[in-house]
Amino acid sequence: MTSNYALKNLVASGETPPLDSRHLIVVRASSKGGKGIFAKADIPRGTRIIAESPLLTVEVFNSVGKPKSDTRLSRDVLAAYNLLSGTKRRAYDSLHKYSRNSKIGDKAAVFVANAYEDGVYWLAARFNHSCIPNVHHIYNNGKKIRKRTFHALRDIKKGEELTVSYIHSEKSDRRARETELENWGFSCTCAACTNDSARNALEWKIAKLARFWKSPPRTGPASAKKSLERYEAMAVMSESAGLVGNSLAKCYRGCGKCSIALGDSNQVVKWLGKELEVMKYYMGDDHPTFQELSELLKSFKEILKTMEKRRKEPLSDTE
Ligand SMILES: [Zn+2]
Repeated sequence: MTSNYALKNLVASGETPPLDSRHLIVVRASSKGGKGIFAKADIPRGTRIIAESPLLTVEVFNSVGKPKSDTRLSRDVLAAYNLLSGTKRRAYDSLHKYSRNSKIGDKAAVFVANAYEDGVYWLAARFNHSCIPNVHHIYNNGKKIRKRTFHALRDIKKGEELTVSYIHSEKSDRRARETELENWGFSCTCAACTNDSARNALEWKIAKLARFWKSPPRTGPASAKKSLERYEAMAVMSESAGLVGNSLAKCYRGCGKCSIALGDSNQVVKWLGKELEVMKYYMGDDHPTFQELSELLKSFKEILKTMEKRRKEPLSDTE
């Protein structure tokens, strides 16, 4: 069985809408190297493109929370691989291998090159990296899903390559991103990582965001007014850099916290609403975190409404 055969069958299998929209994508050769995932049709912002279970899972941290040694990781990956079915082994073996440690072995090299936080996903392993990705991924542990889901962060045009960020782009300037991406043997050619002037302007914004997130301003009462201005400015910066996923949501969260410290209820509602709007796009409204925050906003609005009603009621005659 060729890897292309396995590829065709595994793309065809899996979820169908509304849980997944993999009919909108195609896997083919990418100019970034190897294979990539491309839009077969226009994909609107917020579309859940893939919902996938891992092909192979291995815990990458040891019992004291430190990354496992290469030897231990190799051994654990091999043990997990040996438990896979024949079809899954062939699918795993068809994935790209890379490790800076040449002694790590083929199975572990596939793991190192392709794993998300909790393991290797067969279809999602084909996403290439961009520091300004158009897809966000997150594990949805809701009872009806229990899969890693991949969402369009903005409208994606037919033929465009779909990318995720392997790193926290908003926290790293170009040099830091280059160093981190060496773990995947990846040299990024995204809009922020090359040298013409428009692209340099983009990198300037990301570097500014990176500095901001290194020591984000305090949101306590003493500094809330000034901090709110800074979080608002970073929200605008994040949006104009094209970082419209959790980077933007975190800025709105900061604005919300400052508004709480300032005791400005209407502003709290505004910022929570903005955060939720962004979260809906990048995680979906069936994600437990979205639902929790959504409930919180609903209760908060109800309390405000009751308080407003009481305020307007004429005072009763107590004499
Ligand atoms: Zn880049």
